[in-house]
Amino acid sequence: MTAIGFEIPADITRIVAGLTQFVRAEVVTRHEKHAALLDDPRQRYGPDGRYAPAVVDLIREVRVASAAAGYFNLCAPISLGGLGQGHLAYYVAWEAINHLCGPHHWLGTFALSHWAFGPSVVLEQLTHEARERALAGLVSGRQSMCFGLSEPGAGSDATMITTRAVAEGDGWRISGRKMWTSNITFADWIVVFAVTDAARAAAKRGGISAFLVPTTAPGFALQRVTLLQGDIGGAEGESTFDAVRVEPWQLVGPLHEGFRIALLGVSLGRVYNARRARSASPAGR
Ligand SMILES: Cc1cc2nc3c(=O)[nH]c(=O)nc-3n(C[C@H](O)[C@H](O)[C@H](O)COP(=O)(O)OP(=O)(O)OC[C@H]3O[C@@H](n4cnc5c(N)ncnc54)[C@H](O)[C@@H]3O)c2cc1C
Repeated sequence: MTAIGFEIPADITRIVAGLTQFVRAEVVTRHEKHAALLDDPRQRYGPDGRYAPAVVDLIREVRVASAAAGYFNLCAPISLGGLGQGHLAYYVAWEAINHLCGPHHWLGTFALSHWAFGPSVVLEQLTHEARERALAGLVSGRQSMCFGLSEPGAGSDATMITTRAVAEGDGWRISGRKMWTSNITFADWIVVFAVTDAARAAAKRGGISAFLVPTTAPGFALQRVTLLQGDIGGAEGESTFDAVRVEPWQLVGPLHEGFRIALLGVSLGRVYNARRARSASPAGR
């Protein structure tokens, strides 16, 4: 297999061939069976712009089936129950999914754990208790997560975030606003980034921490669904944290080192988006 001008190792080719078979049998057919629901925006979204519950169920079905078949966690670390494949496999796997599904069978996006929505190297940073509480749901595909870094005033320069986690007892209270968070309209968990040391954050020397928060936490609210051009609903959204209490088990990675954790995910995002952009160009199809 040559996708990028050099030979793809045989083990990756074999795994991705299996993934392709799985997607053809379990995702494309499922999508076609439910095309009336999935492809008509008026059926796909509820009045509030979120996916209709039946769509969320189908997305979950795909994640769970792929996890059971051994593909969903292809690139998640072995310590989390994944296959531990690296960036090259991630690229080639997304290439196979994009090639087979394109925008027409968009359920395909959920056949492989997207770094922001499910298991990846980011979750290696979870505390023991967070693993106990969240990992089984995420690895099995029954649950999903989202990644809340961007804010109204912090995009390309994510170090400008103003969401704060203020120490209280042995935990913190998070307050602030996040936007553009993909998957937030139906995720069970959010990995949220907040300033824990303002002076260090201002000097761009750490001072930002990551926390794992259930989307059912008191004080957390989805404020609105972000509509993308030409659509009447969506998976991206804007949310607020109003003094959301977090305990020590919810800290992801070392205190004040959250930006480093964010980059672990963003690096996978670059691989994912590079392949996606290439799929959208005539040369990459
Ligand atoms: C569909 C979608 C999904 C997303 N999902 C998520 C998500 O799940 N989680 C999350 O946290 N974020 C998410 N984002 C946000 C995304 O990470 C930001 O859009 C991105 O970081 C850019 O930030 P911005 O939109 O504020 O643009 P800006 O930072 O305002 O940039 C605008 C333009 O200015 C340029 N620019 C910026 N700074 C400089 C500079 N110093 N020098 C030269 N040029 C510069 C940029 O290249 C760009 O062309 C999502 C965005 C989209 C569109």
